Amino acid sequence: MPEICKKCGMIKDLCVCEILDKEEATKIRVYTIKAKFQKLVTIVEGIDRKNIDDTAKELKHALACGGSAKGGQIVLQGDHKKKMKSVLVKMGYTSESIQVE
Ligand SMILES: [Zn+2]
Repeated sequence: MPEICKKCGMIKDLCVCEILDKEEATKIRVYTIKAKFQKLVTIVEGIDRKNIDDTAKELKHALACGGSAKGGQIVLQGDHKKKMKSVLVKMGYTSESIQVE
């Protein structure tokens, strides 16, 4: 008899509860800094590195701005703090895990 996870009812080999718990704890930080020529850029930190390129692409599309992912951060041109949370929530992140500064 394979072991069954009490939480989700799947056999342990297929259970993703631990992974989901980890994602739940993810803290995404959103803040702006002044970049070159006093222009504001929005920094998004805490996105899983294996998703970061896709996430950057989606954010650029959703916010209609330029940007890039590097060193575990997404850097977007302009100030997008107001819209960032709703955009990230639409992408599947929980609003509790997103901290906009
Ligand atoms: Zn489970």
